[in-house]
Amino acid sequence: MREPMRVAEKLIGEHTLSGEEWRVLLENSDREMTELIKNAAREVTDSVFGRQVYIRGLIEFTNICKKDCYYCGIRKSNSCVERYRLTEEEILSCCEEGYEAGFRTFVLQGGEDGYFTEERLCVLVNEIHTKYPDCAITLSVGEWEKESYERFYAAGAERFLLRQETANAEHYGKLHPGNQPFATRMECLRYLKDIGYQTGCGFLVGSPYQTIDCIIEDLLFLERFRPQMVGIGPFLPAKNTPFESEAAGSSELTLFLLSAIRLMLPEVLLPATTALGTARSDGRLQGLLHGANVIMPNLSPARVREKYSLYDNKVHSGNEAAEHLEALRTELAKADFTVAMSRGDAPGFAK
Ligand code: SF4
Repeated sequence: MREPMRVAEKLIGEHTLSGEEWRVLLENSDREMTELIKNAAREVTDSVFGRQVYIRGLIEFTNICKKDCYYCGIRKSNSCVERYRLTEEEILSCCEEGYEAGFRTFVLQGGEDGYFTEERLCVLVNEIHTKYPDCAITLSVGEWEKESYERFYAAGAERFLLRQETANAEHYGKLHPGNQPFATRMECLRYLKDIGYQTGCGFLVGSPYQTIDCIIEDLLFLERFRPQMVGIGPFLPAKNTPFESEAAGSSELTLFLLSAIRLMLPEVLLPATTALGTARSDGRLQGLLHGANVIMPNLSPARVREKYSLYDNKVHSGNEAAEHLEALRTELAKADFTVAMSRGDAPGFAK
């Protein structure tokens, strides 16, 4: 058997590879091996989750951010962005609409906006938790002290998304300004895991300066860290950022990596991301066919969706939006998937 196929079989059978074996896989991914990995990943997903796709209601509640990540369209230095911040009432009404539509997970995502202090976020999380005790609350609000993460958890947030973006310290330094150290990101991820959050991390595929070595480090990091969720999407350039003229990341490589991650971490929650859906029109469906099992429709008010532009041309209507849940159901049914409106906890965390 050819070496790349032997390595692929090992990943399928043993769910682990060394750095050198990942290199063989990544440098020799021809059609035959890609198909093998894809089909095995979907089989594993079916055996753990069936054909159910977990649905999360995404609420992008502020695009104001004090950080300056070079790849991000809403970074502090981008003066061309029309900024917005939802009021607490608006956020609660997004939850209300979502709850009525059947959503049982809310993902509160925002920039690091100084208005949303630890206390304000705790009050908000507690209000949502008290009103909808049968729902899971996910926060995606960046880097905080350990005590703050603990208070959010005590207020009712059980899940947290914080992508490492890259597990290579040098590469991280090329994607972020010097006052955003890699060590802080890693420390925050450890805090989240220690506190007991269902923790999500992830990385950009094809970000500027990314090498195969960086991707290998990300995969080895995921294996060590064992997150409950992994979000990966192709890098997409955003206007008025230092990377606006850089080439977009490959959606094919993203799909391949989704399958590889599924095989390495069979029980992980794996979203077919909006970035993938933006990079190609069938991105979300292809994501599912490659081993993803989560979709996050947008519950934010339609008037602000366009403004939460982490990258250019982000899809924010059509089946991406929560109000088109029925159309999404129909689209997924064609590929034999069903929409699961349950909380969709990570295995081992079910309530
Ligand atoms: S990636 Fe997050 S932390 Fe960085 S600038 Fe964008 S919103 Fe802010």
